[in-house]
Amino acid sequence: MSLENIKRVCVVGAGVMGSGIVQVFAQAGYEVTMVDIAEEFLQKGLNNIRKNLDRAVAKGKMSKEEADAVLGRIKTTLSLTEGAKDADFVVEAVVEDMSVKKQVFSRLDEVCRPEVILASNTSTLSITELGSITKRPDKVVGMHFFNPAPVMKLVEIIAGMKTSPETLNTVKALAEKLGKTPVQVKDSPGFIVNRLLNPMLNEACFLIMEGVATPEEIDTAMKLGCNHPMGPCELMDLIGLDIVLAIMESLYRETGDPKFRPAPLLKKMVRAGLLGRKSGKGFYTYQ
Ligand code: NAD
Repeated sequence: MSLENIKRVCVVGAGVMGSGIVQVFAQAGYEVTMVDIAEEFLQKGLNNIRKNLDRAVAKGKMSKEEADAVLGRIKTTLSLTEGAKDADFVVEAVVEDMSVKKQVFSRLDEVCRPEVILASNTSTLSITELGSITKRPDKVVGMHFFNPAPVMKLVEIIAGMKTSPETLNTVKALAEKLGKTPVQVKDSPGFIVNRLLNPMLNEACFLIMEGVATPEEIDTAMKLGCNHPMGPCELMDLIGLDIVLAIMESLYRETGDPKFRPAPLLKKMVRAGLLGRKSGKGFYTYQ
């Protein structure tokens, strides 16, 4: 499928990432159908998009007419078949669970026309493995957006072992058309950003555990010493400690390399429900 033939897009999953990705495509002029498993998730996703667009209008970045046109290009459905059967391109953004993603990909493979590219927004799972359960592994690719998708410029384009050069070229061109900067990476646990970022966050937990420095001291040091906009502890609180732990466990499981072992403090905090902003307390306390 070439870029010019992509008009209608299906996004599976209306959560944090799915709704953001829907907004990105609709803002670029694509007709988008958003699919989820319950009406409340679809409504939550749509509310997310409405809020973002209202904010853009209030800031004068977009006219009310433009915002209405973006919303007018978005449809929702609870049926994967309905959402995907006429789509020219699909992005999957359901929960980070290989068995759920495999069910979605095998259904998409049945429903979508043979030339349609199936992309996954997975953060750590293997694109090669997802491709292997379809009859079109050459058209299965990773398209990894960052949170919040409408704001963050990077899209990692992940090449599974059988992903074709044509598929990669189309998805790179598509990312550029969406106003993003694509970086191509071979299928490998954590790709580039999560492979580098999460071990750094995990190491901050070891520093705290060993009594080397406090979260405040670590954050100040990394902001002023490395020009990071946020310190690692603030960032873990924002991402969610459970997500950081899940990524570390996935890196460790996939590679078997002890350098990726999750810090005991990180595990303990997750078990105690200290997940960061979403639970009201992590390294810091939130109102
Ligand atoms: P989320 O929990 O906010 O949303 C997931 C959505 O998928 C939910 O609304 C859920 O109801 C829906 N869903 C589950 N099973 C489904 C099915 N069979 N069919 C349709 N919808 C289904 O999760 P998220 O944070 O948006 O993450 C989604 C994907 O994006 C994951 O693979 C994650 O690793 C990846 N990702 C997340 C981030 C992040 O910062 N949150 C960043 C980049 C990539």
